[in-house]
Amino acid sequence: MKIRADIAELLHAGYSDAAIVRQLHVDKRTAAKARAVLGVPKAKPGRKPAASPEDIFWRRVEPTDDGHMEWTGYSTAGSMGVRHNGRFYTAYRLAFRIANGRDPEGYALPSCGRDGCVKPGHHADRADRAQEQRVDSLYDAIFGEAS
Ligand SMILES: [Zn+2]
Repeated sequence: MKIRADIAELLHAGYSDAAIVRQLHVDKRTAAKARAVLGVPKAKPGRKPAASPEDIFWRRVEPTDDGHMEWTGYSTAGSMGVRHNGRFYTAYRLAFRIANGRDPEGYALPSCGRDGCVKPGHHADRADRAQEQRVDSLYDAIFGEAS
């Protein structure tokens, strides 16, 4: 059985099956099966997972029908994000951190072609973009700019 990354993430963050059902609109059986496969113990009722910015992130995203995620939380002047202990973390930055296990270099921006997408794994940072550019210019050098 293939476990969805977002389900695994919430399980490891200590969410209950019911919370995962609410958050990700999955079947209760899907959540329970994923828990069994990953060997994550049942969440104790009433136990609140430690709220890291990443935890708050998961409470403020909605999966879309086409495989991306939308931000449902706070946003102002085009900045979507989470305020936590006096710091502001953009949704893109958190998605990048969840997917890569590190902070982005410079800005993390959607690289999946969908404006405003916040799904972890759908973002590139400056290093990723620089590498893409190197590949592009290498391609141009080999095949010519006109290609
Ligand atoms: Zn996306």
